[in-house]
Amino acid sequence: MNLERAEILARLIVRKHLSPAWRFAWHNGTTCAGICSFDTKTILLSKGITAVTPARYVRWTVLHEVAHALTSREKAHHGERWAEKCRELGCPDREGLTPHEDRLRELARKKARVK
Ligand SMILES: [Zn+2]
Repeated sequence: MNLERAEILARLIVRKHLSPAWRFAWHNGTTCAGICSFDTKTILLSKGITAVTPARYVRWTVLHEVAHALTSREKAHHGERWAEKCRELGCPDREGLTPHEDRLRELARKKARVK
């Protein structure tokens, strides 16, 4: 997905579902497509992985992290409260978002090496 459009989408989703204390930012890793940082109240997307991921899955990734932000007190990372929140938000209630996730990571790493 185009990174500018992804950023607009992510900011809209964060603003819609989370308190104004939360913000969006990019990260440069290629291991996690998305990160929810409670310390800095930030939802982060991987630049490299986002660039090679179809828009629908990018949207799901943001919602997945928003579900973490909304169920912060839950002990189990991907537990029942989190899964319920995912269903409420309209994204898959499981960890892997796409059947091609490993391939997308590999593609992002390859691109990063070329630059
Ligand atoms: Zn997760």
